[in-house]
Amino acid sequence: MSTLTTNPLDVITLRKDFPVLDQKVNGQPLIYFDNAATSQKPVSVIQAISDFYLKDNSNVHRGIHDLSNRATTAFEQARLKVTKFINATSEEEIIFTRGTTEGINLLAEAWGRTFLKPGDTILLTQMEHHSNMVPWQIVSQHTGATLDYLTVNGDEGLLDMGELENKLSSGKVKLLAFTHISNTLGTINPAKQMCTLARHYGAVSMIDAAQSIGHCPVDVQDLDCDFLVFSGHKMCGPTGIGVLWGRKALLDSMPPYQSGGNMIDRVEYIHSTYKSAPARFEAGTPDIAGAIGLGAAVDYIEAIGRETIFTHDLELTAYALDQMRGIENIRILGPAQNHAGSICFVFPKAHASDIVTLADAHGIALRGGHHCNQALMHHFGLEATARASFYLYNTTTEVDIFVRTLKQIAKML
Ligand code: PMP
Repeated sequence: MSTLTTNPLDVITLRKDFPVLDQKVNGQPLIYFDNAATSQKPVSVIQAISDFYLKDNSNVHRGIHDLSNRATTAFEQARLKVTKFINATSEEEIIFTRGTTEGINLLAEAWGRTFLKPGDTILLTQMEHHSNMVPWQIVSQHTGATLDYLTVNGDEGLLDMGELENKLSSGKVKLLAFTHISNTLGTINPAKQMCTLARHYGAVSMIDAAQSIGHCPVDVQDLDCDFLVFSGHKMCGPTGIGVLWGRKALLDSMPPYQSGGNMIDRVEYIHSTYKSAPARFEAGTPDIAGAIGLGAAVDYIEAIGRETIFTHDLELTAYALDQMRGIENIRILGPAQNHAGSICFVFPKAHASDIVTLADAHGIALRGGHHCNQALMHHFGLEATARASFYLYNTTTEVDIFVRTLKQIAKML
């Protein structure tokens, strides 16, 4: 097996933490390259969830009995772990959501509908996932604010900071919302520079960290953003749980998103008052086990270190790209350098779903389609691509098999 030069990650050992990887698919050892869609979960995360149900299950925040206290402590400990994980200043800034999508919808409804008005601009980029486009489209219909997009340049898919400054300097942009790492292009956006520029021109910034949170260091104070959203399931955690982080003053200026139990201070028949963040935005019984699982995922990732994971991702991707570029007729999207671990590619004569089906026959899990980036696909003159996306447990041996398989497929076309 080829080894990556500078990477200190002991992949072979850590793969044992992910029993799901140890299986055959269509008679071949599974190669799981669909990590941008969702990551696999280590035993420690699965165990934390089942331990909660086996030993401590109870509702949070409302009980006085022992089990309820234990559940509340574990739930709030998870919030504390997330606080440290993203270097937030207070756990009151951590709102548990269902995931990135719900975080952005919360923000669009509670912040967007309250503060945006006709004449304001919501600035996105052409590489946004549907979940960072459609909620803002709906908000713009309700508020009269205008949508604008930063251009994605060339097949490399990079943003132009000159264009960003130009748009911000109009003074109309009230929100800059963008993805940290593109799930399609593998572009790593200069998030800190973008947020600092937004702040300079008086715009609020929001980072979609769905693809970065488990892959590279994410420090909300250093990034200088105002809001940041992510999902647990792309960072070794369970589905159904995610986080919206926001500056406390901004969160407290926002009205509730959903309402009901847990988010109120006092309820009368006609009028109610609300708690401050985070409870204001966590109506109803939360995903307690999910939050505890997310906390265990934070522990798992912290024990390895995101710098280490990032180096592994970048090296493995560079290793894959280097070989893929040699394949006849392949078109690869995304940056030539500093390409994060998600590679979209097409062959002119084959539909993406055919590539994925052929790869599946070799035990390789890819994804084919528009990857919730339909508008971006059209920008590139495409309907769909195949995508290989990597994470900490993927190896150069797997990449070698993948490239060999792609070469065979290319010959068949
Ligand atoms: N943004 C990006 C960049 C993503 O990759 C994804 C998931 N593919 C999302 C948002 C939405 O995440 P979720 O489906 O977990 O809400």
